[in-house]
Amino acid sequence: MAFDLDMIKQVYSRLGSRVEAARKATGKPLTLTEKILYTHLTEGSTTHTYTRGVDYVDFAPDRVAMQDATAQMALLQFMQAGRPKVAVPSTVHCDHLIQAKIGADADLDTAKSQNKEVYDFLASVSDKYGIGFWKPGAGIIHQVVLENYAFPGGMMIGTDSHTPNAGGLGMIAIGVGGADACDVMAGLPWELKFPKLIGVKLTGKMSGWTSAKDIILKVAGILTVKGGTGAIVEYFGDGAQSLSATGKGTICNMGAEIGATTSIFGYDTKSEAYLRGTERADIADLANAVKEHLTGDPEVYANPESYFDQVIHINLSELEPHVNGPFTPDLAWPISKFAQAVKENGWPTKLEVGLIGSCTNSSYEDITRAASIASQAVSKNIKTAAEFTITPGSELVRYTVERDGYLKTFESMGGVVLANACGPCIGQWARHTDDPTRKNSIITSFNRNFAKRQDGNPNTHAFVASPEIVTAFVIAGDLTFNPLTDSLTNEKGEQVKFDEPMGIELPVKGFAVEDAGYQAPALDGSKVEVKVDPKSSRLQLLDPFSAWEGTDIKGLKLLIKAKGKCTTDHISMAGPWLKFRGHLDNISNNMLIGAINYFNDKADTVKNELTGEYGPVPATQRDYKAHGIGSIVVGDENYGEGSSREHAAMEPRHLGVRAILVKSFARIHETNLKKQGMLGLTFANPADYDKILEDDTFDIVGLTSFTPGKPLQVVIHHKGGLEDTITVNHTYNAQQIEWFKAGGALNIIRRQQQ
Ligand code: SF4
Repeated sequence: MAFDLDMIKQVYSRLGSRVEAARKATGKPLTLTEKILYTHLTEGSTTHTYTRGVDYVDFAPDRVAMQDATAQMALLQFMQAGRPKVAVPSTVHCDHLIQAKIGADADLDTAKSQNKEVYDFLASVSDKYGIGFWKPGAGIIHQVVLENYAFPGGMMIGTDSHTPNAGGLGMIAIGVGGADACDVMAGLPWELKFPKLIGVKLTGKMSGWTSAKDIILKVAGILTVKGGTGAIVEYFGDGAQSLSATGKGTICNMGAEIGATTSIFGYDTKSEAYLRGTERADIADLANAVKEHLTGDPEVYANPESYFDQVIHINLSELEPHVNGPFTPDLAWPISKFAQAVKENGWPTKLEVGLIGSCTNSSYEDITRAASIASQAVSKNIKTAAEFTITPGSELVRYTVERDGYLKTFESMGGVVLANACGPCIGQWARHTDDPTRKNSIITSFNRNFAKRQDGNPNTHAFVASPEIVTAFVIAGDLTFNPLTDSLTNEKGEQVKFDEPMGIELPVKGFAVEDAGYQAPALDGSKVEVKVDPKSSRLQLLDPFSAWEGTDIKGLKLLIKAKGKCTTDHISMAGPWLKFRGHLDNISNNMLIGAINYFNDKADTVKNELTGEYGPVPATQRDYKAHGIGSIVVGDENYGEGSSREHAAMEPRHLGVRAILVKSFARIHETNLKKQGMLGLTFANPADYDKILEDDTFDIVGLTSFTPGKPLQVVIHHKGGLEDTITVNHTYNAQQIEWFKAGGALNIIRRQQQ
């Protein structure tokens, strides 16, 4: 599991000169975010005149981390690149596919047998290509990354939206789709819109019941679920320096809930203590040598309004514990107002289950603070009223807190310890309930609480709070209870109150673990065979897409003219389909089934021009493909918005769609189409969308002189012999035109390897 010290040395060796160059070019002092971004510009993009929120810039991240669900397609694609090894240090973490049902051991055994083919594939492909593999049970991606790989001043991408957790240790860590991970592992630059910057100045010091979680719950209330979109949130101030590294991780993790690109804290003595505590003294020593570059310039923090696009001030001395929810993480309630909100809104007051842990809040400090409340249930003779589960974030934390007696404390008040995995946080929870139609309340220390997120039940009201507040509510079993001020009646009939939680930031005896669950890759993977059962319904090796035929493309049928919103979820639905995310042909049976057909206002019902019959979109397209006929998809504004899921671009490509012609694209989807060798085109005149009729056939003209900035023509052949010729625009640069000609970006990389 060794971190890559040489890579970190390289980053630090260019940090100072890049910062200096940026200061000179901009004529301004720099935020920490800018310092790290400028340090990770590719050699070709070292100008510093980017407009925040506007310009797209190429970066060279230091690391890639992938969770097991999203890693499957990322790695199947990476295999297409023909490289013997990944270009940057990368890891896979088996955490998302483990269902919580009975308890850690039994649930892990079940997951290992149910997901055997996926785990075997991920283990073998990691072994072959030099990727570190964290086995099921080893822990949740973000906690494992924080403990092992995050480092101040680094840049990482991860195929999970809570990748920003590593910002707690001063890393720019951003959640991406599998296609981006594949590109970076294949050695391509990674493009990001230069972010806006939000500064959060923390002053004062927390005490009592208030914890790091309450800072992000408060920030979520201020910024709402959209307020951080397109921005990096940088925390600073004396209050920031008083927080533990893991507490900072909690804040950055849940920054995903305000839509932020990522969040970050500067390097300080707390970061150093965590690095040394997790056996990374070498990194702490290296970081100390460049520490003035691992924080924002003093002028910036003295006068933040001049350097950030928005600044928020929070005084930690006055911050109350918060409870956020239900159904959205930005509905923020200070604990003193929560009981009243529960009553006024008619939310179920009885608490049925409390869940602590997850990647967000499972540090040693979190567990010890929660255990200090749990132990009072026993010492004060209070019978625990609600169910209680504990999800350790990693085997390192689990082993250490077991050694130090904290798991016993939880078990003695009725807690059930779950596997070191996502479990209930991602809906992998076989919840025991007598009546799923009953409105009910749960509270978690997780980060997301949208309807159905935890247990798939729309009647569940999920609230979010710190682990210690969750634990107190579990004991009380009542959401109108305020653990700071109220008493409970114990089993002897006495009125008792909780003492304030007490935590230990880092284990006094140090962390310990018997088997962290890590498998190092083979030094020479050339002989390693990647395990994929040819009969598998969940995994399928990819074949390279074919190259452009070198001529204009003629005789395309209209597959669908999509009406209104067509997100990546409409193009490639999630839910039950996700189990096929490693099998392109099977998951392609969901292609565009959510899109609304302009001609009949129905989903998944389009006219098959060969038979005249109406049928499902994927079946219709498969019929065209079987007859060697290409097709075109027409769409409305902002086509492909939403998740960056690469399947939305791969499925049409796989089934033989040749072009997507829309009024406008969501940029990430447009880029994904280009990477797969598809034509993504826009109407030069959006009103031409109205010229597209159900029985039309299309020719795309001008491809033999396909050039950046030069529009193409589409000839629309209407039924009855009438024709329209329209102009269509594109945004392909010279490199992307090569991708189109080669049949996809990976085909070019593979050629370069040969
Ligand atoms: S614990 Fe929850 S938020 Fe964290 S990685 Fe797993 S599913 Fe995502």
